Amino acid sequence: MSRYNTNNFIIKIVATKPFHTLRHIAYEHFIKIDKSPLNTSSQRPLDTILTPYPSLLSNNIDNHIDHALICHPDLKEELKFGAKQLELENLLTFYTDGSVQHIGTTHSISGYGWTQVQPFTPRVKFSGSTVFFPSSSKSESMGILTALIVSPFNCKINIYTDSANCITIFNTRMLSGIASPRQKLKQSNFLIWDLIFFLIEEKQLLVSLYKVSGHSNNPYNDEADLLAKAGAHVIEPIIVNHKFFVKQSLGFISWNRLHVVDRNVRKWADNVIQPLIFNSMVNNKALSPIKQQIIDGDIDWTFTKEWLNFNDQDVPCSAKLSKQQGSRIKKCNFIYPTIDIQQRNYPRLYPIGSIPCIECANARDDNTHVGLCKEHSIHIKNILIRAAHDLHDLIMKNTKDGNSILEETIKNISLFNTSFVDALPQSHPGYLLIHHLVPSDLTKIFNIYINDKKLRFSLFSKFFSTLMSSIDALIWTRRASLVKQWESTLSITKNKKRFYRKRHKKRTPPPPDPGAPDHNLSPSRHYNSRHFATTPYYRDGGFNDNFAHIRWTTSNYLHSGHWTTYRDNIGFNNIDLFLILQNSFLKNVFDIR
Ligand SMILES: [Zn+2]
Repeated sequence: MSRYNTNNFIIKIVATKPFHTLRHIAYEHFIKIDKSPLNTSSQRPLDTILTPYPSLLSNNIDNHIDHALICHPDLKEELKFGAKQLELENLLTFYTDGSVQHIGTTHSISGYGWTQVQPFTPRVKFSGSTVFFPSSSKSESMGILTALIVSPFNCKINIYTDSANCITIFNTRMLSGIASPRQKLKQSNFLIWDLIFFLIEEKQLLVSLYKVSGHSNNPYNDEADLLAKAGAHVIEPIIVNHKFFVKQSLGFISWNRLHVVDRNVRKWADNVIQPLIFNSMVNNKALSPIKQQIIDGDIDWTFTKEWLNFNDQDVPCSAKLSKQQGSRIKKCNFIYPTIDIQQRNYPRLYPIGSIPCIECANARDDNTHVGLCKEHSIHIKNILIRAAHDLHDLIMKNTKDGNSILEETIKNISLFNTSFVDALPQSHPGYLLIHHLVPSDLTKIFNIYINDKKLRFSLFSKFFSTLMSSIDALIWTRRASLVKQWESTLSITKNKKRFYRKRHKKRTPPPPDPGAPDHNLSPSRHYNSRHFATTPYYRDGGFNDNFAHIRWTTSNYLHSGHWTTYRDNIGFNNIDLFLILQNSFLKNVFDIR
């Protein structure tokens, strides 16, 4: 894996094995040193319950129930009893259902249930619950799993479910055969589905899934529905033992060392990272001019991201593109080199004191002032009027239901309100636009009228790049050339800036500048260090510690759904991560600290 070249004192790290093998090796190493319940090799008493599947695969149903599931022993007995009743059958028909209640809260519960209804066979029923990452399709798949685990070998099985999602997953994987590990790891609830397909293969089952509509007054379906609802209240949950697959195990990611994140880890991690970024933005001093808009959700981050990455060049990377994207990023982060920033960076080149806007002389020349300047307002009005017109044309061309209402809608959104006198108000969505942030006001129109997601983004990019190039030309570039003229009168040149550090390295620092309000801050602010202030997000009694973003996403652990959905309606401060396990057998299995 690595090679040490001691002669030249250079360490070269070369990946000599496929990524997947490395991942496996890393996992093996991890379980050797790990002390968590995911550890397969430690010899704690609990491991009698959690022993990895014996190296020789047993073909016994009881063995599957014992080793593939983690739950209270009584539940295993119940399943074994059901299996015993069905052991002589060769055709079974199950109605299965799932039920998730209080989703979106930390008290969400998930249940599933099934009833076996094949005529002249024992009527066996089951209700159960599960925990972690609740979703209706997870509950449905647990229903299917528990039905299959009690079915005898070489059995033909019909399953009636109302989950179209499960049928799609099942059929796709059935048809395409073995999914690559990479694909598998991206599938939601892959532990459950891996076990389902293991059972089908191991027991030579012939399984067909049928869709039954949710409220069809089918008595069997209604029964399954009731069983699932009752299942949600079963205190002892059942989860899949990931160690059952120890032979084919890949490096799983675990959440808080409790349970495997059996879904697309990148997507999942995004929900941890996004709130972190959001917190840091709310607390970022440079962004204080738009703090209120961030809090009020006036900025459409998805489209803003789309815009920041937008590339209209013919090549995927080029110096020109980096320059374009760099400039967008500086503008939207309020770190574009306006005079105040230049003054800080080159204190010996610029005059001391607060330098007013070159255009209006009424305010300090900084990022905040761009767009608010009186001299910009006429340009902004023209740009907005033109944009409203272009937007109308664009939507009309690409939608069937564009009509007089569209014109009215566009006219009424506050972005296109040009009735302001004098300067643009800071609260006007146009202010966001000037700073390369996409106002939600604007994307609302695209979301309403353009249904197709791909088309929506491409139309938006086209419209927005035209709009932004006129903003750049009339606001930013015009401003920059005026500043340049002013600089040349002070003989501040590009070359002087380029060699500034070299020339002024050994000299003493310039005299203190009483005029600059910023001067108390050290001139070399640490833009590189990621510093997060400790009062994230504007909430009454808000989060007062550095782990607030973890709290936000703790809910992610308990239910699916985007973090912003739950940002405002869950009290995270006193969240009890283990509430759901409090009275269950799993509490003993997991190392709850
Ligand atoms: Zn001005």
